[in-house]
Amino acid sequence: MSRFMSGRFAELKAYVPGEQPRHKSYIKLNTNESPYPPAPQVIAAINSREVEDLRLYSDPECKFLREALAEHYNVFPKNIFVGNGSDEILSFAFMAFCDKDTGVSYPDISYGFYSVFADLYNIAKKEIPLRKDFTICAKDYCGSGTTVVIANPNAPTGICLSIEDIDYIVSSNPDNVVVIDEAYIDFGGESCISLIKKYDNLLVVHTYSKSRSFAGGRLGYAVGSEELIADLDKLRYCTNPYNVNRLTLLAGKAALEAQEYYDNNNRNIIRMREYSSIKLRELGFELTDSKANFIFVRHSKLGGKELYLGLRDRGILVRYFEKPRISEYLRISIGTKEEMDTMVNSLKEMLD
Ligand code: PMP
Repeated sequence: MSRFMSGRFAELKAYVPGEQPRHKSYIKLNTNESPYPPAPQVIAAINSREVEDLRLYSDPECKFLREALAEHYNVFPKNIFVGNGSDEILSFAFMAFCDKDTGVSYPDISYGFYSVFADLYNIAKKEIPLRKDFTICAKDYCGSGTTVVIANPNAPTGICLSIEDIDYIVSSNPDNVVVIDEAYIDFGGESCISLIKKYDNLLVVHTYSKSRSFAGGRLGYAVGSEELIADLDKLRYCTNPYNVNRLTLLAGKAALEAQEYYDNNNRNIIRMREYSSIKLRELGFELTDSKANFIFVRHSKLGGKELYLGLRDRGILVRYFEKPRISEYLRISIGTKEEMDTMVNSLKEMLD
């Protein structure tokens, strides 16, 4: 920290993203990206004429993309917020809906950014333990008196809550916002977007980074009541009104016209998740019931760090968390069949 930085950030621990090696020699199964490229329509939408137009600012209202998303989900454009990745939207949501008095509750094992945002904005945190089997107990969030943030499926466990449980959590916190982060919902869970017609305190956050193969394009969106979206917009206009660039807006709309392409890719990813899970169980691994594009695994013979380092030595990057309760585990993103076979064979070699 320089001598110029505000002392209020002295204790802040920044989020540590997964490695992004510059050369492609690694098999990259560490940040839950899609193994498939964006749809051909998306690639066509980002053409040289559009690149020339980058001299112009992007539309601060993100109008055509919000309209397209609204049509896709059968809501109104005023129910849609568009952000530079869902991380930006989560950041705005923490800034908007929590503070020292209205704290935030989230599971003790969940997406690492939640605690970073809480600390950054000086928000009182309540980390609610998952059950021993890593499932969320919906009752623990009933009448919480805080903003509630839940990743569904949860990360890094991949375990899903039912829409009935989400409904129960939202209905039992009528005076607080409930944020459901559905980054991984397209790999087997049931989205709760339909509930926004029933509740004005529900905000559902999605990303193009995983199931729409667009992590590097940085695009996320939130669906919620007109009032919640207006709150987020106010903060966006206070920080960065041109938060989504022109090319990404075009790509976002084009992707919605290629739903079949993405549905097909996501079915393949689910199939590959089930295939890899069987192979790893045969090697004695224990797995959570993941409904995401990653699996969460451990082995009684080797610890998480040993497995992580062993795979790294063999040119495979996965994610390992040096945190209580989960330090024995690895989170492995689902790649192509070839990549998953190489990963399984490398683990077999290490266990032998
Ligand atoms: N939520 C969860 C649960 C995630 O795992 C991630 C990816 N790291 C994000 C949100 C953020 O994704 P992005 O900013 O790429 O949209």
